[in-house]
Amino acid sequence: MSGTKAIRTVAMTQAAAHGACALCTVLRHYQTQLVEVTGLQGVTHLCNHHAWLLARSAPADLAARIYAQVLEAQRKEDAHANKVCAFCAELRREEAVRLHELVQRMKVPSFVGWMRRSGTLCLWHASRLSESLPDVRPVVEEILARTVEELEVDLKKCLANSAREQHNIGGGVLGRMAEYLVCQRGIPGEETPC
Ligand SMILES: [Zn+2]
Ligand SMILES: [Zn+2]
Repeated sequence: MSGTKAIRTVAMTQAAAHGACALCTVLRHYQTQLVEVTGLQGVTHLCNHHAWLLARSAPADLAARIYAQVLEAQRKEDAHANKVCAFCAELRREEAVRLHELVQRMKVPSFVGWMRRSGTLCLWHASRLSESLPDVRPVVEEILARTVEELEVDLKKCLANSAREQHNIGGGVLGRMAEYLVCQRGIPGEETPC
């Protein structure tokens, strides 16, 4: 239910080579396209993250059109109105499609071999992948163990650098750490309220 302009998507193999969670990478790219290029139609509700992301990153005309749709929905005070954030819902739909694509890739031995050596997954997508394809659970666990080892090394470097007051030398580890724990921002993961 995106707008009229086409969304360009990233191929899974290209995303996997990116050094971050393959699914987070394709979804982050998709979210950027939704917010900065195409928008959504018939939006009746926005979550905190996507309301602010529109204000910060969308072209003014696109953000204004979407906010107007939400206001219109509120004015109607429809008790049955959809209270789900339209961006979260669209990302969840895309997530299911791309997870299926990754599951198909993980049936190809050469891709599995590459993922085992160099691939990255966040905790959320690792567990989605293992649920969808239980056979790859051992490979997923190997990927997670290697990722955690790499993160721990980089966190130590980051701490050593901050002890020397080189505050800017985190090497991106803090962002990679956040992605590992909770996916990229805006991608619906665990939804248990804090
Ligand atoms: Zn992920
Ligand atoms: Zn949302």
